Formats: sequence, C-alpha cells, structure tokens
Amino acid sequence: MITQVVVSFEAATNVMRNKGVAQMSFVEVAGVKVDTRHYIGGQRVASELTYTNTSPIDNSFLGEISRGSKTEADLAVAAAKKAFPAWAALGAAGRGALLLKLAELVEANIEPLSQIETMDNGSLLRSHRRGVMPRVAMNIRFFAEWAMNNLHHEAFETRGHSNNISWDPSGVAVLITPWNAPLMLATWKIGPALASGDTVVLKPAEWTPLSASFFADLTKQAGIPDGVFNVVFGFGREVGADLTAHPDISRISFTGSVPTAKVIAHAAADNLTPCSFELGGKSPLLVFEDADLDLAAELAVEQYDNAGQVCLSGTRLLVHENVADAFEEKFRERASKLKQGDPRDPETDIGPQIHKVHFDRIKGFVDRARAEGQSIVMGGEPNAELDGLYFKPTLVRNPAAGSEIVTAEVFGPVLCMQSFSSDAEAIAMANGTEFGLAAVVVSGNRAHADSITKELVAGTIWVNCFFVRDLRAPFGGSKKSGVGREGGNWSFDFYADVKNTVVSPNGWKE
Ligand code: ADP
Repeated sequence: MITQVVVSFEAATNVMRNKGVAQMSFVEVAGVKVDTRHYIGGQRVASELTYTNTSPIDNSFLGEISRGSKTEADLAVAAAKKAFPAWAALGAAGRGALLLKLAELVEANIEPLSQIETMDNGSLLRSHRRGVMPRVAMNIRFFAEWAMNNLHHEAFETRGHSNNISWDPSGVAVLITPWNAPLMLATWKIGPALASGDTVVLKPAEWTPLSASFFADLTKQAGIPDGVFNVVFGFGREVGADLTAHPDISRISFTGSVPTAKVIAHAAADNLTPCSFELGGKSPLLVFEDADLDLAAELAVEQYDNAGQVCLSGTRLLVHENVADAFEEKFRERASKLKQGDPRDPETDIGPQIHKVHFDRIKGFVDRARAEGQSIVMGGEPNAELDGLYFKPTLVRNPAAGSEIVTAEVFGPVLCMQSFSSDAEAIAMANGTEFGLAAVVVSGNRAHADSITKELVAGTIWVNCFFVRDLRAPFGGSKKSGVGREGGNWSFDFYADVKNTVVSPNGWKE
C-alpha cells in the first residue's frame, strides 16, 4: 500500500533539447520511479513547459509532467517513421517474440503498475491487481499470438486465379487514449498496432500519464527497438492536435468523447488518415417482467463500477412497470452496501472521480436535473463524510423523456431509472439516444431475450451478464458511439494495410 508519494527533483540528464534545464524528471510511487518526460526514439525528452499532475485520491501533488508541443509531436512521429521499416521487416514472429517478452514484463510488474495507476486515476487497487493489469499483459500477448497464428483468410479462387490476402504494416499509428482505464485501453491499441508491424506514438490523457511512462520503460527492457514505441505527454488540444494532423502518420485510433472525435476527424481529413473511434454511450440496462430481479439488481449496481467512469455503463435502467418497485427496492438495498472511499483500501467499492474538473461536471449534471424538478431518490451530492472528489452513487427516478440527465453521457455514478409497459416501448426507449455502444438485457426467457437483442442497436449486448469481454470478439460502437471495431481480425483490418494479390494460373515459365 502506498503511504506517501515522494517527488524527486532531478536534473534532466538525457534531454534532446533544453539541455541543462532543471526538470522534475521523476515521480516515485510505492518505491518505483516513474519518469515524467516523454519517451521518444528510446530516450527521455523533457519539454520546456510542464503541467501539474495530482492524485484524485487526496489531491496530493504527483509531479510536473512534460507538456508536449508541435516540436515533440514532430520528434515522435519522425522517430516512429525511422523505426518503421526495420520493425515491419521483422515479421509477425520476430515482433511476436519481443511482444511476448513485454507481456511477461507486464506480468512481473503488476504490483507497481497497479499502484501507479491507482495513485494516478483513483480506480480500485484491488481491481488493478486482480483484473486490469493481468489484462494489460493479455492484450499484448493476445494480439502478438493472433498475428503469428490466426491472421489468415480462407483461400478462394476466381476462375482459377488465387486470391492471396495479407495484412501489411501500414506505418505510424497515433494512439490517443482516455483517463478512465489508462493502460488497459491503451494496450487494446498498442497490442494490435505493434503486432501489425506499425510503429506507435501514444498520447495518454493529461490526467493519467504515469502508467504509460512506466510501460515505456518495460518496452525498452523487452528489447523493443528504439522508436517503435513512443509516448508523448500533454494536452489534447496542443500536442494531441499536432499529432492527429501530422502528414506522416498512417492511422489514428482514439478512445474518448464524441466532441473530441469530431475535432480529430477534422484534423485527419486533410491527410485522409483512417480513424478508429471508440466513443461514449448512454447504454440501456433492460429489466423485463420475466427477469431474475436479484440478478438484475446486482447487474445494475455494477454500473457504478469505476465510480461510473466507464463508457460501457448501462446508465439507463429501463424496467418493466410491473416489476419496477420490486426492482428498485432490491437495487437500493444492494447499492446502500457499497463502500465509498480510498481506492487503495481493499474494502472500497467506489473510489473518487478522476479530477476536480470532472467532479464539477458530474455535479453540474445532477444539480441541473434537480433544478428541473427531476426526482433524485438516492445520492445526488458529494459524500460529506469524505474529503475530496467522492460523489455519492446516485439514482434519478423517472426523469422526463428527452431531459439532459437521460440523454447526455454523465460519466459518473449517476443512473436514471424509467419504466416501460411493452417490449416495443422498451426497444424504442433503449434505441432512443444518439449512442449505440452497449446494452444489457435481463430476462428469464431465451426466446424473449432473443427477440429483444435482434432489435437493439449497439456494438455489444450482454444478456444476463455484464462486461464479459473476449479479445477475439468485435468491440465498438454504433451510431455516435464509434467508428470501426477492435478485437481479433477487426483490429488488424484497421492497423494493417490489407492487400489482395491475385495470381493467375497462366504465364508461368517454371
Ligand atoms: P475528456 O474530456 O473526458 O478528457 P476527451 O475525449 O477530450 O475526454 O479526451 C480523451 C483523449 O483525447 C485525451 O488523451 C485528450 O488529451 C485527447 N484530446 C482532447 N482533445 C484533443 C484534440 N483536439 N486532438 C487530439 N487529442 C485530443
């Protein structure tokens, strides 16, 4: 357990510019040093400017992080471009050997990675240890092995000609990632991008730079050649904008909000850079009359996981009117047992929100809903027993159709509950937003559940379960929730240049 965060003031010794400028180059978390400078071309690079990174747990100072600009964006893309031919030429097996080594190093560092991530983004330490960081290793291993063993297409012929389909490396992939599950979501992209033979420039979210920095050190230890993997820190509208508008990149993969995706799409347009977007949601969790209500209540309470900062959360509880009261009672009974507090405490179920700015955003949604006269039957305010960014798990009952609280993504521990009286009404309500990321269906009857899932517009639907994620399966959003899918071949279809070589049976001399 972390007892303190020590910040060491060290002179930057390995800077590519601003030589001699004293920088706070490291933050120490749980006895592990994490570099606060960019990782470009295998070296640490300090920016002239920095920004302050604090912990959401207690607002303690974590470090001054290098604040990237166009200079660092150009340096990183140039380093990745230079490293590309040799990395591409290694082939899936050559790259795979190094990526498997990287996965092993992640596994060997689950404890420091978990401590760093919890300190930086406030998610539960026990989840990082048990689930998230092992999955980070799995993300790397899975895509390395997929590229080596599974990346092939069924051979077919056209009038005697054979079609030979290959996935060729495409160039430099820019990856822009969010703060809610920083390393987990980054490695969904890093894994397939590197396995494809692309080189990478990662820009993690400004509020959560540390796990990416530590991960960069692991890539070095794994023997991944300099320039193949680069990390640039800084603000989205600054270095993020410079990276996504860069003419020398081949792919942009982004996870974040819809408004930011639109800005990135504009930036990419000039170069026609292909984009993959995994965006927000306002997913429904449908509870039918034939549902096991205990299971439904349990699944609904899970939607508060990660303090509600999960794009996939089923934040709209749509419950058949005949079971609404019974469901609500069970739900509230379970929700009342959730323990809110320090995410390093193994007893804690809900930690803090990521940042004061985001905390205020969530509070703003709830305050406006209250001012509009919506009925807030649970929570609805900061937890007065805890100092800081802890917002109580909240339930808004029967919000007015079309109101902000039931249409906008709050990205906090705020659920809305509405009732329906028929399947047709449930489907119309479920599909009635601009999003289409996920849906949860709770029903005790298979034929009934099937008839509902067929009608729902969403990238992933969970029936009587939540968050079961297999990397072989496609993942992504419909409507405004995304562009493209990640997982299995879908990831490689994006990062690689898919090529078909058609070979004639004629003209051969041998
Ligand atoms: P939030 O507002 O909740 O932080 P965003 O979608 O804005 O969500 O952020 C997700 C990621 O997108 C972060 O890494 C952020 O720095 C980055 N980002 C924000 N704006 C831009 C932009 N204009 N260009 C590129 N990246 C951006």
